[in-house]
Amino acid sequence: MDKKILDELKNLLLKERKDLEENLERIAKPVDKEKGDYETTFENIGNDREDNTTEVEEYADNLPVEITLEKNLQEVISALERIESGTYGFCENCQKEIGIERLRANPSARICIKC
Ligand SMILES: [Zn+2]
Repeated sequence: MDKKILDELKNLLLKERKDLEENLERIAKPVDKEKGDYETTFENIGNDREDNTTEVEEYADNLPVEITLEKNLQEVISALERIESGTYGFCENCQKEIGIERLRANPSARICIKC
């Protein structure tokens, strides 16, 4: 792949990583940032029963969001690792090059449009 395009895609991935980290840090705390591992927490568990109910509801609302963001972040991190190891841009299924347009639309894509 062209170095210029690779740099462009790498920048897209780095930006996406930063955005995802920012969103995640609003609702969860990092366990292992390098791996994109986060954990949703109960923030202010107190003795007030009504307060706790709100906390639990918030936790229940945040959890699926956290899981989705975390999954996206891990995909982005994995794509950045593939750039470093030189295996980026090849379909994991048929080993052919993934089209540039597809990568521009989704830089962390693992498989080509045909697969
Ligand atoms: Zn393929």
